[in-house]
Parts: sequence; C-alpha cells; structure tokens
Amino acid sequence: MKKKMKDHKLQPESLMMSHGYRPEWSEGAIKCPIFLTSTFVFKTAEEGKAFFELAYGKREKAPNEELGLIYSRINNPDLEILEDRLCLWDEADGCAVFESGMSAITTVLLEFLSPGDVVAYSTPVYGGTDHFLNHFLPKYGIHALPFRPGEEKEDLQKKLSTGDLGKKLKMIFLETPANPTNTIIDIQACKRIADIFSNDEKKVFLTVDNTYMGPLWSHPLKHGADLVVYSATKYIGGHSDIIAGAVLGNGEVITRVKTLRTFLGNMAGPYTGWLLMRSLETLKIRMEQQQANAVKVAEYLNDHPMVKNVRYPGLIKEGTEAYEVFKKQYSGTGAMVSFEIHGGEQEAFEFLNSLNLIQLAVSLGSTESLAQHPKTMTHAGLDPDHQEEFGISDALVRLSIGVENYKDLIWDIDQAFQAVEEFLKSNGRNINA
Ligand SMILES: *Cc1c(COP(=O)(O)O)cnc(C)c1O
Repeated sequence: MKKKMKDHKLQPESLMMSHGYRPEWSEGAIKCPIFLTSTFVFKTAEEGKAFFELAYGKREKAPNEELGLIYSRINNPDLEILEDRLCLWDEADGCAVFESGMSAITTVLLEFLSPGDVVAYSTPVYGGTDHFLNHFLPKYGIHALPFRPGEEKEDLQKKLSTGDLGKKLKMIFLETPANPTNTIIDIQACKRIADIFSNDEKKVFLTVDNTYMGPLWSHPLKHGADLVVYSATKYIGGHSDIIAGAVLGNGEVITRVKTLRTFLGNMAGPYTGWLLMRSLETLKIRMEQQQANAVKVAEYLNDHPMVKNVRYPGLIKEGTEAYEVFKKQYSGTGAMVSFEIHGGEQEAFEFLNSLNLIQLAVSLGSTESLAQHPKTMTHAGLDPDHQEEFGISDALVRLSIGVENYKDLIWDIDQAFQAVEEFLKSNGRNINA
C-alpha cells in the first residue's frame, strides 16, 4: 500500500515542487499557474463577509479556517504558496513576501518601532538599510544606535545601560555575516541583550537579515530571532532576474507585518511569486554548488602571492572565538568571498577590468559569478572613517561565486592577476608581496 506522506518528514528540497499546491485546483496543471488576477469571486455574500471579518481581525479564526482569497493586495495563490514553501526552510510559522528586500526590511522597522524608540543595529549593514535607519527613521523620532561586531558580548549591554537608551530599546537589528567583510555576529548573545531590556510593557524584537547565508545554511529563528528578513533578489531568486523580499517569524509577528503590507501595498506581484517558486526548486543544488566553488576559489586566493588576505567563513581559524560562533550559527561556509589585493584601488580596478567570465556587477547569490569593489560601489555611501574601521579598503574586492565550473573561475581569476602583474611591470612597478 502507498504510504501516507505524513508518516515521513520530508526535507524542504523534496517539497519545493509540490508543497501547498494541488493540481486539481487548476485543471490538473502540475505547476501552480500564474494567477494574474486582481480580485476573486466570492461564492456567496456570506462568504465575502466571513473573509473580511478575518482580514480585518473582527473575530478569531475558527479551527482549520483559512483566510479566503479576496484581492491581490491582501493575498494571491502565487504569494500564499510561495510563503508556505519559504516557511519550510526556516521552520517558521509564517512568511510575508514583498516586492523587494528593502520593502521587507522597511515594513518590519515601521511596524515594530514607534516615535521615541531606539533600534540598535550591527555594523556594517546593507547601504539601503543604513540609509533608512539613519536618514528616514529620525524624521519619526526613532533613534538608530550602531554597534560593532563583537560588542554584543558585553559592550552593547553597557552602552544601553547608560541614560534611558535601554528603556527605549525596541529592536536589535543584525546583518550577519556582514557584507562585504564576512564578519560574524553572535545572534544568541543579542537575544540575551534583547531579553534583558524586555519587560511586561514592551518586548525588544530581534531581527536578522539572513540574505548572506539563508535560507540554506543559517536559521536565525532557532537562535532566538523573532524576525528573519531576506532580499529574495539574492540566493532565493538566484538568477539575477527579479527583485523581491521576504519576512519570516511566528504567526503573531507575521500577522502584524502582513497587515501593514496590505496598507502600504508593497506585496510582491503574482509573476514574482511564480518565479520565486520556480527558483526554490533548485535552491539547494544551486547554493551547494556555489559553496563548493567558493571553497575552491577561497583556497586558491589564499595561496596567491598577489593576495594580502581572504575573508571567507571557511578560512576562520579553529580554536578562535569567531570559529565557535561560526560553528554554532552556520551549517555551511557560504559562497561570498572577499579579498584584499596587494596595492590599492588601481590594482583592484585592473583586476576587475581584466576578468572575462566573472561579470563586474553588484548584487549576489546568483547563478553567475559577480565581482565588485565595495569601497567605491556597494559601500560608497559609508562614512570614510567607517569604511576604514570595517576594513572596506581600496584594495578590497568582493566576489559572489556562481554555479560555473570552478576551474573556469580560477582560470579567469588567475589570468586577471597576470594582467595586473603585466600592468604593474609596464609601469615599472612590482607587486609589493
Ligand atoms: C540586496 C540586499 C538588501 C536589499 O534587497 P533588495 O532586494 O535589493 O531590495 C538587503 N540586505 C542585504 C544583505 C542585501 O544583500
């Protein structure tokens, strides 16, 4: 007899092709169609009334009752099925998808922060997040307090204990590993701080931007995060062809996020939902291949005489504190590799301009490998002192490793180094190795 699926717990990668969708809903179509529709027909007026009662929170859900389809700003099958599938990777109760990573992040900040509140955030964070924290939120009387990687161990608690910062603390926002330096922040240590400053009147929410390592190698909800945010443009989308975002957490926080999403109207459209479902089918094999390639590239770079240092989680030394946090938090080493070339901007640019296969572009997590110069590109907006402090130097190059054959990637990097060497020689200089 055919065994029931419920007798066996399937892994997320086994469920990405089918979870949450039934072919009989759509003429037997094996794939969930794109529901290009703005509105949905109610069977009866009573049904329409019942759906709206739930949508507006006028009554509690009955057991097994689901919010019916109303209008595509509130819900749409392509979004709901995608959200169900994304929940599996992070073992979250709920998910809300957005038209960009920035709309996911800003909706969370707007929903959980009020005038007078303080949000502590790790540095560096994504440029867009940094801008919103420091240039938009202050207009609403919300204060953003930066902290450095490592400060979560004790200094952050001390900092928050001065004046009324801790009393006003409402959220800790983390991005780990930090882009572009791959610095790791201890999520559990931040959770302890969030708990210390929580009381009966207010909860301090812990939010983690998991774009760099998730949803495959990192599951912040398991380490105490309340909310996980993603730029789904990156690994989740994975093909450099869509902009999207997602938020995951327990039922209560996701209801709040979805309610604000309904009024901001920044949900993803059905076509984006469909493309992301297609992407999720290959998420694991893509990310695993990217990681395997990144390990080879990082090892190659680590041995190259033109390379000053390599920043890759796979190269963190055993026995260090950073290694302990890395081991606890991540099940993989990722596919983002940064390195400093000997020299400065000129050498870095010569290297970037000499690449053939690896494309010169920002963004990350896609099937094709990308290279960029953080100091003058993704992190150009940072204060020069902060660039220096975080190690975003003239010589730093960031690579996002794709699914190509790693030998071709190494060949490309190798010939680009040779081009830099020739360039230096023709200018009467040597690499200062
Ligand atoms: C790209 C990125 C974002 C912003 O996402 P968009 O989809 O571009 O809006 C936020 N956080 C991180 C870590 C990112 O890499």
